[in-house]
Amino acid sequence: MRSRRDILRSFLLTGGWVLGTSSGVLAAAAKRPLPTVDLDFLDSKVTLKRRTCWTDTLPRPWLLREAGGFSRITVHHQGAGIVTSGHENTSAAAVDAVHGGHCRLGFADIGYHFVVDYDGRIWEARSLAYEGAHVAGANEKNLGILMLGNFNRQTPSRKSLDAVRELMGALQAHYAIDGKALFGHCDLGASECPGKNLHEKILKMRRTVPIATDAVGVAKEGEAT
Ligand SMILES: [Zn+2]
Repeated sequence: MRSRRDILRSFLLTGGWVLGTSSGVLAAAAKRPLPTVDLDFLDSKVTLKRRTCWTDTLPRPWLLREAGGFSRITVHHQGAGIVTSGHENTSAAAVDAVHGGHCRLGFADIGYHFVVDYDGRIWEARSLAYEGAHVAGANEKNLGILMLGNFNRQTPSRKSLDAVRELMGALQAHYAIDGKALFGHCDLGASECPGKNLHEKILKMRRTVPIATDAVGVAKEGEAT
């Protein structure tokens, strides 16, 4: 039989039975693997930088909704300063900054699924296992791509346009997304995003125009630019 003194000593060493138990539950939840999507179908077609290249922060899974596939793609721009550099470290920092901004707004994670930089690298962002958070009221089955730059003030680089075209083509093939279901943010809501100089390029990539939108309802996590 353990003495009262031994029991008290055990309690102090473990941090207490209640705290010890709840910490164990939280640790188990944190280690539970998140759903993933194999991106091998992109690797041979684009220069893909995995999420681990720019962050080791995990999303907050209790705020996420599983995507269940995609039926449309929406392109955005940063809409801040002009970007004329495709340096890898600069782009990684930019993706991380977007992520930080979204998290401060209460998002589960960065809102977009991919980010395309000036040199045409494609940065994996939110997992395709999850619905994005990038168009208020129209995130359902809507795959979000951010291009770094401000395309009201600059034109997109040739490399970035080639990359986004390849990316959208691969995603359309993989998810059987209709060729007319390519949008700029402004097609789905009141926004200047992705800027007139990029929007006109997106419209040219769309095989048929126009299509009615269903940009109504309430944002789930909030609206990204
Ligand atoms: Zn946008």
